[in-house]
This record gives sequence, C-alpha cells and structure tokens, in this order.
Amino acid sequence: MTGSDIDTSVVVVGAGPTGVELAGQIIELSRRTIKNDFRHIDPRKARVILIEGGDHVLSSFGAHQSVKAQEQLTKMGIDVRLQGLVDAVNETGVEVRYRDGRVEHIASRCVIWAAGVQASPLGKQVAQQSGADVDRAGRVKVQPDLTLPGHPEVFVLGDMIALNDLPGVAQVAMQGAKFSAGKIRARLEGKPEQEAFSYFDKGSMATISRFRAVANVGRLELRGFIAWCAWLFIHILYLVGFQEKVSTLGHWAVAFIGRSRAERTFTLEQARGSLTNEREPRVPGTG
Ligand SMILES: Cc1cc2nc3c(=O)[nH]c(=O)nc-3n(C[C@H](O)[C@H](O)[C@H](O)COP(=O)(O)OP(=O)(O)OC[C@H]3O[C@@H](n4cnc5c(N)ncnc54)[C@H](O)[C@@H]3O)c2cc1C
Repeated sequence: MTGSDIDTSVVVVGAGPTGVELAGQIIELSRRTIKNDFRHIDPRKARVILIEGGDHVLSSFGAHQSVKAQEQLTKMGIDVRLQGLVDAVNETGVEVRYRDGRVEHIASRCVIWAAGVQASPLGKQVAQQSGADVDRAGRVKVQPDLTLPGHPEVFVLGDMIALNDLPGVAQVAMQGAKFSAGKIRARLEGKPEQEAFSYFDKGSMATISRFRAVANVGRLELRGFIAWCAWLFIHILYLVGFQEKVSTLGHWAVAFIGRSRAERTFTLEQARGSLTNEREPRVPGTG
C-alpha cells in the first residue's frame, strides 16, 4: 500500500458538543501537531467529515451560536454535513441517509460515534428489580427527589437518571449528588428534607478550536476568544488541587502556544495486528 492509497478521512457522527470538539481537535492535530510526522502520508490532507442529523451543529446553543460555530468549523476545513442520518457503519465507511432522500456512502476507516450514549446496564437491572421504568437510553425514570419509585431509600444519580429532560452533563451529576447527600444527612439528623431536586443550569460551553469556543451563560452568548478564555477558566477552577491546576496550565501552554502535545499514544499491538492481517489474511473457521 502506498501513501496515496491510505484513506486518511475521519468521520465524526453527531455535531453536539462532543462531536464538534472532537472534529476540531482532529483537524488541529492533522494540520498542526502531526503535520510533519509521517513519511508516507500527508496528515494535512486528512478529511474530517462531521455528520449531523438535525438542521444545525450545536443545536442546544441556539440558532445564532450554531450558525457561527458552523462557519468556524468550515473555515477550519471540516466538511459539515447536516440533515443526514448515519444508518450503517462498516469497515469501508458509513452510509448516510439525507432528509431529501439522497443516500451517500462516505469511505473512511476511522468512524467516531458522538451521537449519544447508553446508560450503564446497571440502570436496567436496578429498574427491573424495583419496578421502575427506563427510557430509550436505558436511564432510570426517578422520582422528583432522585429516588426509585416506592424506594425512598435508594437514590439514582448522574447520567443514569431520566427526569425532566435533564442533560447528561457533569453538573447534573454533581448537583444531584449534593442534593441526595443533603437528604441522607437530614434523615440521620431527624431534620426536614428537601422535597424535590432542582437543577441550576450554570451554562454550556464547547470548544471549537484553539482560541475559539462558544458559551451560553443564562441569556449571555459568548463566542470566539472570550468564550475560549471562559472555558479555560472554568475548567481550571474545577480541577482538584493546586498541583493539578499548575500542571494542566503547563500542558495547555505546550499545546496551544507551541505545536506539540504532551500525550501521543499509539498501540504497537494495533499496528502489528493490522500489518499481520494485511500480510496473512485469516482463513475463515480457523479462529
Ligand atoms: C466524550 C464525552 C465528553 C463529555 N464532555 C462533557 C463536558 O464537556 N461537560 C460536561 O458537563 N459533561 C460532559 N460529559 C458528560 C459527563 O462526563 C457525565 O455527565 C458525567 O461524567 C456523569 O457522571 P456520573 O457520575 O453519572 O457517571 P460517570 O462519570 O460515567 O461515572 C460512572 C462510573 O461508574 C462506573 N460503573 C458503571 N457501571 C458500574 C457497575 N455496575 N459497577 C461499578 N461501577 C460501575 C463507571 O465505570 C464509571 O467510572 C461528557 C461525556 C462524554 C462521554
């Protein structure tokens, strides 16, 4: 296989915060960090295709932020495809069914699924044993105080809960944990308990690239460099320990100001495995 035969396209499925951040990071890696690291391929030629079933990228941020984010992604060289649902993935790539009826096969040996997660199977198990319901993502439908129906002594928290369309984000998990700890303490001390969990939305953020992000805080919409600075500040703030904060700042300085990354990992097992497969194709039935 020659360098020009190697398929270097990456398909990211789902343009929520995870998909957008991933696509942005991958294109930056290919265009900046590893651009001179290979002899047989030119990483700068890698295509990054971001496929979204809805009308906008980052739809939860509102139409205006979404349009600006999409402009930015396109400017960075990411091929954004909207209104397309991926309905098949195999070793040759993905099949996309667009809303206007077109069906397209996009060739890629690297497909990243960022279109949602399933809750841990533990959720289903807990629900089955307690008589609670689960939603499509396997999350347990809890009472307003985060307990199982009929079991006020069992709390369900974080990504595993289905309640009032709360998003699967860290703040829901953290605030839910604080709420239930407060209830347990109140019970032990014989004090009145808070009846229902109420989530305080502190806002949402997504980085698009180095120096660019979008952030919604209440009615305030931030974009570009200011939003990116806010993203850095919040993430540093929530890190535990002074040492962690300083070392993270150091890593970021290397990555953002310089061209390098402290973490570069590839597994030899993977490389050896794919070489062996190419040289000695396995005979079916021989294990
Ligand atoms: C790629 C990605 C990016 C994200 N980015 C953001 C972001 O930028 N901001 C944000 O707010 N949120 C983000 N999230 C969501 C955030 O990570 C979750 O909402 C948060 O971690 C939920 O916390 P949790 O404690 O419920 O679950 P987790 O953090 O997933 O912790 C659950 C733990 O339980 C363990 N576990 C599971 N089953 C069992 C079992 N049967 N027995 C024992 N242990 C078990 C798991 O291994 C895991 O360690 C992101 C999620 C993903 C996947």
